[in-house]
Amino acid sequence: MHRFVIAALVVALAQPVSAIEPQAAVAEAEQFAISNVISTVYHEFGHVFIDQWALPILGREEDAADTITTLLLLQAGTAEADTASRDTVAGYFLSFRLFGTVEESTDFSDEHGLDVQRAYQMACLLVGGGPDRFGDLAKEAGLDADRVETCTAEHELALRSWNAMAAPHLAGEGAESAAVAVVYEEATADYQEIASLLRTRGVLEGVAEAITAQFVLPRALTIRAHICEEENAYYYADIDEISICYEYAQLYRDMLLDPDTAGMAAAE
Ligand SMILES: [Zn+2]
Repeated sequence: MHRFVIAALVVALAQPVSAIEPQAAVAEAEQFAISNVISTVYHEFGHVFIDQWALPILGREEDAADTITTLLLLQAGTAEADTASRDTVAGYFLSFRLFGTVEESTDFSDEHGLDVQRAYQMACLLVGGGPDRFGDLAKEAGLDADRVETCTAEHELALRSWNAMAAPHLAGEGAESAAVAVVYEEATADYQEIASLLRTRGVLEGVAEAITAQFVLPRALTIRAHICEEENAYYYADIDEISICYEYAQLYRDMLLDPDTAGMAAAE
């Protein structure tokens, strides 16, 4: 049943792209890429907080970083943040459908949950924390009624925990964050368009500014967008750097525009 529901959501969010005007399809795919990069930068900041504030975490660090991401996007409450939240849930479902359903390629030992689980978890926190804005996601994402009943409490616990963790590190009254620098490296030919999109839209700066306006980071940090020869994003604690691969942003664009070949370029 879940497979059908997943398909329904992906169809609702992704399928129309191929059926609409090429220009509109490109714009939608670019927004999808931007949204998923935004949530990924928040996720990496989750790792930054855990590291720089030496936060106690029981359970998987990756789950904690996902929870922080969802809470911060919910709290931002802007149209862009809400779109990023929805596109991220859709991105997990789509990624699971494209890459995660082949038994051999599903890594059950990975430090992350399966993308489909990350989708349900994020949808649950969104529904619980923003029932007015995200109530429809419960049905769209196919959350079981039993699970929906727990989402309000799950969100409350997550928010209470996060607020306690962040309280000693809030910006204001003379408490300022160390600087967060943003660097967009030159891209190779295949990735110049996506690099230019992220740069001209100030995607990384937007997240950096939102974070430093609210929280105090003790150590300066760089967010570097660059060619990595893989589709990923990392936080490197040893060099105080968040790495966002252009290939990762491109993957999300291609997942909507060209799902048959998405993810092939970096593997070649
Ligand atoms: Zn992570």
